[in-house]
Amino acid sequence: MHSLDAFAQEKLDQLESRSLRRGLTDTFREDGIFVERGGKRLLSFSCNDYLNLTQHPAIKAAAKAAIDRYGAGSGASRLITGNHPLYAELETRLAQVKQTEAAVVFGSGYLANSGIIPVLIGPDGLIVIDELAHNCLFAGTQLSRGRVLKFRHNDVAHARELLAEHRAAHDHALIVTDGVFSMDGDLAPLEALQALGEEYDAWLMSDDAHGIGVIGGGRGSSFMGNAHVPVPLQMGTLSKAIGAYGGYLCASAPVIELMRNRARTLVYSTGLPPSAVAAAIAALDLIEREPAYAAAPVQKAKVFTASLGLPDAQSPIVPIVIGEADAALSASRLLMEEGFLVAPIRPPTVPQGTARLRLTFTAQHPMDEIERLADIVRTRILA
Ligand SMILES: *Cc1c(COP(=O)(O)O)cnc(C)c1O
Repeated sequence: MHSLDAFAQEKLDQLESRSLRRGLTDTFREDGIFVERGGKRLLSFSCNDYLNLTQHPAIKAAAKAAIDRYGAGSGASRLITGNHPLYAELETRLAQVKQTEAAVVFGSGYLANSGIIPVLIGPDGLIVIDELAHNCLFAGTQLSRGRVLKFRHNDVAHARELLAEHRAAHDHALIVTDGVFSMDGDLAPLEALQALGEEYDAWLMSDDAHGIGVIGGGRGSSFMGNAHVPVPLQMGTLSKAIGAYGGYLCASAPVIELMRNRARTLVYSTGLPPSAVAAAIAALDLIEREPAYAAAPVQKAKVFTASLGLPDAQSPIVPIVIGEADAALSASRLLMEEGFLVAPIRPPTVPQGTARLRLTFTAQHPMDEIERLADIVRTRILA
């Protein structure tokens, strides 16, 4: 065997032996909530399409109209000829939603995080990051070549210790966190982190991939309750509740202008297809018009957690931590036999020993099915 193939096969065998090998499964998404896999119809609790907007008629129509008018692809980087006129409208809308001066849209959330962080932090900089932050935030920190220190999950006192000890030795500092944690569904203490940032001149960056559209009246995690935390770097994605594709950063005008000049994943990557941008604009319209609809996913998650006596859901994401990877796989298989798609989440996506079922609730999940799922989890998985 060629050494390259032998290398690949050995890695795959190692993953297999630890129940960590993954695979792609053809999935036909029928509507916002049901999927078909291998001829079986399943109610999905594993899509991040919180408002079921990927299938919304008005949003699909907006995408189709954009293709007819502007074409299927954008043809070049935004800085060359890929900046079709829909971008300006979307960026204005995002800045309004997040109450910042400006916004910039990237090709995806992953591209946004890998691009933003190295613009702000170089080899002499410091990054203090929550240990459970999303993988692409860590990718961005590595590309920055700055000093990266992890703080214990949501532990502001630990973040403070790290800044107290290391801030002075670096030119600039960034505090990085998810706004809503993608695998745990809990919220970051943004107000305390923002105050900490002010104290140490460390810029706060929040990743609100799972916040926009569904919490804080649809505006996201810095708009919870009556308080608005003025997070200076608010990143997020257009591919979850917004139902389209793309990533964004909302920030001050000079920061956004700097990103347009220096973020390599923006400068050297092709602009989004016009259809994705048009769909995102239509989705933001809908969320603004129907705040009660935007609140539905979290309400449904709360029904589920109350029914199981789990901690009250703070977002549409509810984890059921199982422990070992193979046990999480069997729990997922059991639910599949009952007509539910609940994907198991295993390391390295989550820490060793915390393999879990991760459930995402959407606006249109039927209540009786949520109750039936809770019953099965109670009697056959947690029992
Ligand atoms: C999904 C996700 C991303 C990546 O966004 P994409 O647009 O899917 O690339 C970034 N951060 C968090 C917290 C996410 O959950």
